[in-house]
Amino acid sequence: MPIYLDCNATTPLKGEVADVIMKYMIEEYGNAGSRTHAYGAKAKSAVELARQKIADVVNAQKNEVIFTSGATESNNLSILGLADTLISKNKTHLITTAVEHKSILEPFFQMERKYGFEVSYIGSNGDGYISLQDIVSQVNDRTGLISCMQVNNETGVIYPIHDIACYLEENKLDIYFHTDAAQGYGKVLDQLRNKRIDLISVSAHKIYGPKGVGALIRRVRDYKKVPVNPLMYGGGQESSIRPGTLPVALIAGFGKASELALSSHNEWWEKCQKKKDELIASMEKLNPIIHGINTMPSSICFSIPGINSEAAIVALKDIISFSNGSACTSRNYTTSHVLKAMNVSDEIVRGAMRMSWCEDTPEIPWSKVVDCLEGLII
Ligand code: PMP
Repeated sequence: MPIYLDCNATTPLKGEVADVIMKYMIEEYGNAGSRTHAYGAKAKSAVELARQKIADVVNAQKNEVIFTSGATESNNLSILGLADTLISKNKTHLITTAVEHKSILEPFFQMERKYGFEVSYIGSNGDGYISLQDIVSQVNDRTGLISCMQVNNETGVIYPIHDIACYLEENKLDIYFHTDAAQGYGKVLDQLRNKRIDLISVSAHKIYGPKGVGALIRRVRDYKKVPVNPLMYGGGQESSIRPGTLPVALIAGFGKASELALSSHNEWWEKCQKKKDELIASMEKLNPIIHGINTMPSSICFSIPGINSEAAIVALKDIISFSNGSACTSRNYTTSHVLKAMNVSDEIVRGAMRMSWCEDTPEIPWSKVVDCLEGLII
């Protein structure tokens, strides 16, 4: 098999995580909501242990963690779930960025179409960065919610969410702050510990955990829980914000993955950075255009003039597996909205390649990759 270089789309499961999942699939299969027997009690304690481990990564309280099916659901909940509250406060203006994942942009479109909110979509400049000033310049008295992602899934750019949180705190602004941390949770640690970030969307399958589970961290601020309303109704689980029987095995696996991410953070970061340094050094002679500044050590998005990314993916398919845009949209063959928002020309966007790796990605035969790419230049 080729070497997997699409870790921003999803990561492989760690063995320790798989062991925990199997235990709760096969041996400890109780329903965490069953109060009347030991099976239920054991499932519940597994869920609570995982809840604590996830809270520890972002320095939150255990009761601020709401389990969901993943970051897509947490994003929808954070935005659509605030609609009633914002309308009742006459806070009808919202701010987000044009480089967000579709699971942010689509709910914001719904907020415009269904409820009549006004949304400011902040574009980024050529370097893919969005500054605090870009956000501040859009704030007005009616602004009720700012949502800015922590790390971009296509370019790997890390955004200044800590600075945004400090700005809101220092100016005592009555604005909720949400971040989609699907790509940064467990990787860029300090930013997410800022208590002024009210809502954080996270996902297990980006940190060697299972697909189909994630969480919304809903912080308590000034003794008040952020008033997110549910999008579904049912059995009252997760403080009625997200009802439904909890997937105990997935949650336990997510807890284990979070524990590993926290304890191995520095080591994993350095290993990823080393791979990135190797990649950049090997590619140098092809004069790549690298998209984005202030990027993660685990990914890169670049174009090589004269190379079409589809051709490169096919030519390299036996050596490495990578993508040319976000995995969630690449099946549509639409050009990347992220690179477009960065004013990258259509031709260069068509050549954009996204490679992303994990701490344990095997050695990559870069010279073979570079030779192959060189042969594609037209
Ligand atoms: N936001 C970002 C930035 C992502 O990269 C992803 C995953 N591609 C998501 C949201 C959606 O996460 P999930 O797969 O957990 O729904």
